[in-house]
Amino acid sequence: MVTKISDSRTPQRVTFGTWPTPLEPMPRLARTLGLGPDDLWVKRDDLTGLGGGGNKVRKLEWICAAALADGATVLVTTGAPQSNHARLTAAAGARLGLDVVLVLAGEPGSSSSGNIALDGLFGATVVWAGDVHGEPLDAAAGQVAERLRRQGAVPALIPLGGSSVIGARGYVECGRELLTQAPDLTTVVVAVGSGGTMAGLVDQLGPERVLGVHCGAVAEPARTVSDLVRGLSGTHCAPELRLRLDQVGGGYSVLTDPVMAALTVAARTEGIVLDPIYTGRAMAGLIAAIEDGDVTAGQRTVFLHSGGLPGLFGHTATLAAAEGALS
Ligand SMILES: *Cc1c(COP(=O)(O)O)cnc(C)c1O
Repeated sequence: MVTKISDSRTPQRVTFGTWPTPLEPMPRLARTLGLGPDDLWVKRDDLTGLGGGGNKVRKLEWICAAALADGATVLVTTGAPQSNHARLTAAAGARLGLDVVLVLAGEPGSSSSGNIALDGLFGATVVWAGDVHGEPLDAAAGQVAERLRRQGAVPALIPLGGSSVIGARGYVECGRELLTQAPDLTTVVVAVGSGGTMAGLVDQLGPERVLGVHCGAVAEPARTVSDLVRGLSGTHCAPELRLRLDQVGGGYSVLTDPVMAALTVAARTEGIVLDPIYTGRAMAGLIAAIEDGDVTAGQRTVFLHSGGLPGLFGHTATLAAAEGALS
């Protein structure tokens, strides 16, 4: 039996970050996108302190507390080669003195630089699972955890993106921060990968105030997010989610023109760096939502910056497009 982090234990967390994260205005970007100068704000969850920052830090505060309570000696998780979650799990393990094994989709050498370089720096062990996604990748992680247990370790198996119910509690907390910082907010725009970030925000702010932009990381984003929302609230009713599915393009790791345009406009109006997989898609989704009238001037909109900068340095197409723009 592998120790699985239970979702039912008493809420508790370790502290990795500095809270609350800042909420900053983006007046030049707002005007450029056709909003009023005071309409658009950014929640800086790219500035969460640990290991290069990003949204997984909030989840890992809860997940790692549960792992420690279970007596874990090694954290095991999965992801894409440029997984920000894997990188932050590696950093969390370093901070806590726990071993970390990352079971990544792909072959050795299938990705370099960016997150994978930081995984090495933080001392994680990488096991390459081959070209598998979804359940087969989870199964590969389960086998690795089982092997570690047979060798005498106590593994804590953390799901893709840290999106267990317990991990999503980190974004219930972020929702509370937002209600204090911007009580009049109409919409929070958030990238949806494994779904825990959107789920936690929906739990706290209600489904009508959270606009999720699907990034192609999971097969059924609405179901993934709803299951987590139900797990958090303990109810059975399915929330009416605001979810955009129009920004996936050629697939999870493929850079699209609207995403490159979103990266460029955020960088040139506010000096803010987005990433090609998550926050760039969320911004492209916000731009599309303004174009089709789902988000309008005169409302308070918050863009959740969930991090991802290291991933930009591991994404060759984005680096080529950015360097190509040099004059
Ligand atoms: C993982 C990730 C997301 C998506 O969060 P989920 O909770 O997995 O949906 C968004 N942005 C960045 C930068 C991420 O690493």
